[in-house]
Amino acid sequence: MAHLSPMLKQATPVIADRGEGAVIFDEQDRRYLDFTAGIGVTSTGHAHPDVVAAAQEQVAKIIHAQYTTVMHRPLLDLVERMSEVLPEGLDSMFFANSGSEAVEAALRLARQATGRPNIVAFHGGFHGRTVAAASLTTSGTKFRSGFAPLMPGVAVSPFPNPTHYGWSQEQATDFALRELDHLLQTVTAPQDTAAFLVEPVLGEGGYVPASAEFLAGLRERADRHGILLVVDEVQTGWGRTGRFWGHDHFGVRPDVLITAKGIASGFPLSGIAASQELMGRAWPGSQGGTYGANAVACAAALATLDVMRREDLVGNAAARGEQLRGRLTAAAREHAEITDVRGLGLMLGSEFRTADGEPDGATATRAQQAAAEHGLLLLTCGAWGQVVRFIPALVVTEEQVDEAGDLWQKSLADVL
Ligand code: PMP
Repeated sequence: MAHLSPMLKQATPVIADRGEGAVIFDEQDRRYLDFTAGIGVTSTGHAHPDVVAAAQEQVAKIIHAQYTTVMHRPLLDLVERMSEVLPEGLDSMFFANSGSEAVEAALRLARQATGRPNIVAFHGGFHGRTVAAASLTTSGTKFRSGFAPLMPGVAVSPFPNPTHYGWSQEQATDFALRELDHLLQTVTAPQDTAAFLVEPVLGEGGYVPASAEFLAGLRERADRHGILLVVDEVQTGWGRTGRFWGHDHFGVRPDVLITAKGIASGFPLSGIAASQELMGRAWPGSQGGTYGANAVACAAALATLDVMRREDLVGNAAARGEQLRGRLTAAAREHAEITDVRGLGLMLGSEFRTADGEPDGATATRAQQAAAEHGLLLLTCGAWGQVVRFIPALVVTEEQVDEAGDLWQKSLADVL
């Protein structure tokens, strides 16, 4: 008998049978509030009727119309509709399937377009599991250890992470920018540096928002040295943070934007956006792939866009996010073990530390598992697994957020 590989680490023992909005039912019909959303993917919730209908209609027409062989209408429509949501000037799109692939696409574009070899990534960033994406990932050694040698040409600079350093946001930002200048002077010269690759909010690294000053500092240095500013919006995009893109909170203009996860409500689809001029500096045929821009995934993305607009899911993410933040902050006030509640919109985390101030992954995991037993699915993140994160579908209701708040308090009472 074959088995599922033990390389996978399960967060919960749940076997999902079906889903509805922010809820999952298991095979015994037990109901779970799903505050994981498939790691921030099911933006419109599980089985949104409009997404289901669009996908079903497309499945019956054509499933796989390979996009470098023939084109298909859902792809052409999606490219056109992306202009409704893309930052100004980013008018050219390339599609792939996963976040990691899109990160690799951005990396290849940056190297080809600039003719420079090196990428600066920021400490705590997660960019994926393929070898190049893992080389850019510094959110935990578990994503790197034993896989060496990783890709050369990566330099890592600090991310402004106030709670990690025990500093104010201003101090952390000042430190991060000074270290970046130091790096450009000592490790990777500007003329060898193709791109800065940054998450607007560290995701797997612990749900740490960047600051406007930090991103403005990257923009300024990028402009000064002809370095590209690449934002990884795989987790922060598509309304997750209460604005359409995470970087919208900070008023910064990216040169390349990476998107995936929420884009197609659960169908595998990812992409990068840049200006036509920048994309034109890459060679035709230098990127592609068998499955990129799958027709059903593109149809689902179009339906996702419609639903997001009609149901104002970005607005709901902002409103429900504030409600959830209130509940998490109230719970933290009752338990000294929770030392920080942070994030943006519906991308929120509760950080656990010991009385000595050390990151406490063991307690975070116990709280996450107690929550699963109470019917609330959660994940952890952070270098030590010390942050429990809350990322429900953007359709989550006021009642569901309240219910999740109650279950979280019960779970904490069990383990603390
Ligand atoms: N970038 C970020 C910011 C992510 O959060 C993730 C996934 N958690 C990835 C890239 C990689 O995406 P995928 O797992 O689809 O390859």
